[in-house]
Amino acid sequence: MGRLFRNQPTFSPGDWLPTLARLRTTRAVALTFDDGPTPETTPRVLELLARYDAPATFFLSGERVERAPELVGRIVAAGHEVFAHGYSHIRLQHEAPERLFEEMSRTEAMLAAYRPTPSPYLVRLPYGSGARNAQLHRTVRAWDSSAQLALWSHSVRDHLIASEESGLPAVERRCGEEVERLLARRFLGGGVILLHETPYNVDAPLNAEVAPLLLSRLLPRLAERGLKIDRLRPHQNPSRLSRYVLTASV
Ligand SMILES: [Zn+2]
Repeated sequence: MGRLFRNQPTFSPGDWLPTLARLRTTRAVALTFDDGPTPETTPRVLELLARYDAPATFFLSGERVERAPELVGRIVAAGHEVFAHGYSHIRLQHEAPERLFEEMSRTEAMLAAYRPTPSPYLVRLPYGSGARNAQLHRTVRAWDSSAQLALWSHSVRDHLIASEESGLPAVERRCGEEVERLLARRFLGGGVILLHETPYNVDAPLNAEVAPLLLSRLLPRLAERGLKIDRLRPHQNPSRLSRYVLTASV
């Protein structure tokens, strides 16, 4: 036996971090924004969220924070949560642990100028990297033993919209369609919705328009549906089960 498994990673329940992909209520959804902050998108997103009194969770990229740190202050002042999304938006799953430590610490050090470092810390890496990889869970735990992986249950693949449509009317129409498709999904209540601010790796002139367009359609539709917007809250006393339940992203 020992020989057979010699080259396999050894797993123990303790390797896996608690994960979050749904709320504990079906009467609300959580909104999460990756890849910000950007001057083109963040102010408009904040304005829409304020109009609907909706709290959100922002996973911010360090290099973008460095270019516009005042936007972090505005996000925090508006009552939203901010966490590090790494520094340079690379896939961290196959990098040495030190790279992840550096990417996260460098970014969190900038965010800590605007609010105390949260504990438990919600970690969402670029590309959702390593959610099903025990080594990655161990590395994130070594960076912050309080960490919980912030996944999501609903994506509208918003990062593709700007490059798949051309012209503002087409982008607007597509955003409306994606919102209606989202609203038609089962299990939307309790869902954690993934959105992006000016998503990375998109070379399309209307890239920064997508988040405000989606949000301006999504927020009133959620209200019509009677779904509130709630915060993405960490598990306070994570059960063993929370380490195993990895909800598939859709
Ligand atoms: Zn990202």
